Amino acid sequence: MDVKFLDLTRQYEILKKELEPAILRCAMNGNYIGGSVVQEFEDSFAKYIGVKYAVAVNSGTDALAIALRAIGISEGDEVITTPFTFFATAEAIVSVKAIPVFVDVEESTYNIDVNAIEEKISSRTKAILPVHIFGQPANMDEINKIAVKYNLKVIEDACQAAGAAIYGKRAGGLGTIGCFSFFPTKNLGAFGDGGMITTNEENLAVIARAIREHGSGVNGAKAYKLFGYEYTDIGTVEKQTVLYTPHKYFNYIIGVNSRLDAIQAAVLSIKLKYLDEFNQKRNEIADRYYEGLNTLKEIILPECKEGIYHVRHQFVFRCEEKYKLIEYLGEHHVGAASFYPIPLHLQKALSYLGYKEGDLPVAEKITKETVCIPIYPELKKEEQEYVLRTIYAFYQH
Ligand SMILES: *Cc1c(COP(=O)(O)O)cnc(C)c1O
Repeated sequence: MDVKFLDLTRQYEILKKELEPAILRCAMNGNYIGGSVVQEFEDSFAKYIGVKYAVAVNSGTDALAIALRAIGISEGDEVITTPFTFFATAEAIVSVKAIPVFVDVEESTYNIDVNAIEEKISSRTKAILPVHIFGQPANMDEINKIAVKYNLKVIEDACQAAGAAIYGKRAGGLGTIGCFSFFPTKNLGAFGDGGMITTNEENLAVIARAIREHGSGVNGAKAYKLFGYEYTDIGTVEKQTVLYTPHKYFNYIIGVNSRLDAIQAAVLSIKLKYLDEFNQKRNEIADRYYEGLNTLKEIILPECKEGIYHVRHQFVFRCEEKYKLIEYLGEHHVGAASFYPIPLHLQKALSYLGYKEGDLPVAEKITKETVCIPIYPELKKEEQEYVLRTIYAFYQH
């Protein structure tokens, strides 16, 4: 048997009868960027998460960077985050000239250790940026309490957690602003890059909409005012014609180009309807893996706290023989990965921050131990069993 780490063609095969006409409709109607298809997806995503506003952008990385700017993070500000995440989390903080301040993680969930946050707060701290790692929400109750106490904003990196929840309240709606990625491998994956910003604050949505489109248009003008600049109306919306939109070519703040393509929104709208079902299937596989791996004393399975709906973006456990096991699985045709092989505070690109080995011992320890095995909704039962049998065989050697 050959069990790939991930096979995206299976989901395509299942949904192609719905996807193909929707993609073709986009090709035929000529509105390739933005437009009603994107707006409808934003509306249904906001409703799904349980927030008032959703702003579609070009990637999860852009969602983070734009969200940081929208809440006013700028040069020299400190943002508290986790070192056990994908690089983009810290990269987005650096991209707005702010400073990532890393806090160690919990050994049991791999999420930010809320007991270690307060000691890292300084007069320059402006926000906390937890990551719901591998699909399990971080301890948002405690994080929000700390944020209120120190007057900080909370940005959720929910890129791996579409559909995850705490006592029924979905990730992305638990802080000041939420960020999602629709990278093809994520729980809700497009046919290319995509991302989303979610919030209940109208002003943040307006600024995010302005930034994603060169700081122009009606949202640009509104954002300009929100940033406190004096504003005299140039060109009126009422006088817009189909050919010339006065606001469009008036730029009020410096933004970026980070829009979602209509084709991606069409694909995502269809997949969103199935997201809960897909996440449920991931959970069934996780249950089977827990049952199967429980008996191996060499393997330490992660904990899932009460009230948490984990969406199992990755199935990750810890063991001492990390790279030997990954290699053995590979030799026996089971795709496995090492998320994450190095904590962010020890990444070369961030060496200027001055961290050294030993600074965040739990994150450093678990990066040497974590093994990811295949988990995706279409993974067959016999494949899951083969994965388990191969792991047993490794430990019998
Ligand atoms: C995927 C991911 C991102 C970045 O999303 P892109 O769409 O690839 O830019 C950021 N943070 C986390 C935790 C992710 O998993």
